[in-house]
Amino acid sequence: MREKTVPGWLGAVLTLATYGALVWLENRRPLRRAVESKLRRNARNLAVATISAVSLQLAEQPFVRPLARRVEKQRIGLLKLFALPAWLEVALAIALLDYTLYLWHVLTHRVPFLWRFHQVHHVDLVMDASTALRFHFAELLLSVPYRFAQVLLIGVCPLALSMWQTGLLVEIMFHHSNVELPPALEALLGKLIVTPRLHGIHHSIVEDEVNSNWSSGLTIWDWLHRTLRTDVPQSAITIGVPAFLDPSEVELGEVLEMPFVRQRDPDFLPPREGN
Ligand SMILES: [Zn+2]
Repeated sequence: MREKTVPGWLGAVLTLATYGALVWLENRRPLRRAVESKLRRNARNLAVATISAVSLQLAEQPFVRPLARRVEKQRIGLLKLFALPAWLEVALAIALLDYTLYLWHVLTHRVPFLWRFHQVHHVDLVMDASTALRFHFAELLLSVPYRFAQVLLIGVCPLALSMWQTGLLVEIMFHHSNVELPPALEALLGKLIVTPRLHGIHHSIVEDEVNSNWSSGLTIWDWLHRTLRTDVPQSAITIGVPAFLDPSEVELGEVLEMPFVRQRDPDFLPPREGN
């Protein structure tokens, strides 16, 4: 059972169906107001996403699945020290992948070299399902060795890896989406998984708010680290990075070259017209 994987077609159907449903809901029940044309932003984000998806298909997928098969065969890693039933081992592997992704996310903000790349994801001035796919390809390439280390140290079998990869993609599209859910439903969901309002707080331009809600899947990691915030209404949030609030500075070319050019002072605020 542990050697099985989620079929590729199922992953693709789930991803496309989720994306389509979220875009439909975003049009019907938007959570935050748009400050840029949705079509233009989505086209840009999907262009960034395509380059990233191709990079991962070349640099990660051909190696990480065989690595998980080797982990399974040779019983490498933490979880392989115990003779756990398959369902428990898979559940623990997914939870530990999710927790170590929380740690990686904190690093991408705290380590200036990594922030150069992760910033590309945060400079989007509106957050919707397309933002979930808009990671600079170099950030994803930098995460590949980390992914290999996760698989080896935790002892992740192919089934846990493929379930986590499929579930994570669906979950990150959901929590980046600009969908207004009924507050009671969202509060309930937020006890378990990251929701659009929770992740909106992480994409705020306010430092205290960015430094919260780092989880990508389960909210328990933020809860355990006391970094969970639920107290900021979406209407009070400006999405983006303070140094890049002008839409003309976050066009496709600008965001692709952003990690490789001189970095702005984090407190830099562009001069307003008239001063
Ligand atoms: Zn972030």
